[in-house]
Amino acid sequence: THFGYRTVAQEEKEKLVRGVFSNVAENYDYMNDAMSAGIHRLWKDHFVSKIDPGRRPGGNELSFLDIAGGTGDIAYRILEHAAKEHGDFESKMIISDINPEMLGEGVKRFENTKYHSKSRQGERVSFKVQNAEVLDEIPDNSQDLYTVSFGIRNFTDIPKALSTAHRVLKPGGVFACLEFSKVTNPLLAQVYSTYSFNVIPLLGQVLVGDHDSYQYLVESIDRFPDQETFAQMIRDAGFATNGAGYENLTFGVAAIHTGVKP
Ligand code: SAM
Repeated sequence: THFGYRTVAQEEKEKLVRGVFSNVAENYDYMNDAMSAGIHRLWKDHFVSKIDPGRRPGGNELSFLDIAGGTGDIAYRILEHAAKEHGDFESKMIISDINPEMLGEGVKRFENTKYHSKSRQGERVSFKVQNAEVLDEIPDNSQDLYTVSFGIRNFTDIPKALSTAHRVLKPGGVFACLEFSKVTNPLLAQVYSTYSFNVIPLLGQVLVGDHDSYQYLVESIDRFPDQETFAQMIRDAGFATNGAGYENLTFGVAAIHTGVKP
């Protein structure tokens, strides 16, 4: 079994993360709005326009893979962008998450959209419960785009997830990550840190009666590597980056990292 080389700490982290997202699943979208004052929507919109997904004229239909896709926020934007900007109504989307409850919210969301039709759902949009570190249902060299938004900092073994991303992408395929990062200005960093450590767990307590899950979220943001370190991890997994390999959003509160599989 895989327990042979995984430490107790790793097992514990995975269990903890699963618990956190089971607790927050139902209120996830609402809480995102409350905590970020809606800014996460702007970040996500920018993330998707920057990637600019969609089949090009004369090109083949594409395979999109949204990892830690949760309630389908990114996947939905990708399909909208492909349709509106590229007239692409064919490319396929796999939404994957380790947590069936988060994915369940995603299934609900797609039920009420034009991307859902009972006969075609399996063809165009599919949902898979998978650990990003393993992705045993996703073949090697099979995907054109791998997105992960506010997911990777929760993974137990980030280098392993990055090499798995590299494995499933086709040569020329794009890795794109949106994640909380480090505020670069020291004064702002102080304000931000005070806000997150004091206000966010309190909002969790007051709005949905769950202090601890939101305390975990704040701590996981704090522990995640800075922009440069994470860009280097992406290169170490075999990706080529363009320039620095990242773009800061809102003073570095979040960042977009990209890489291409050579
Ligand atoms: N991508 C969505 C978004 O941007 O709104 C959801 C992000 S949510 C903060 C993080 C997600 O990561 C949760 O749905 C959680 O279940 C998932 N997750 C945590 N560890 C994972 C792992 N090892 N493999 C796959 N998904 C994981």
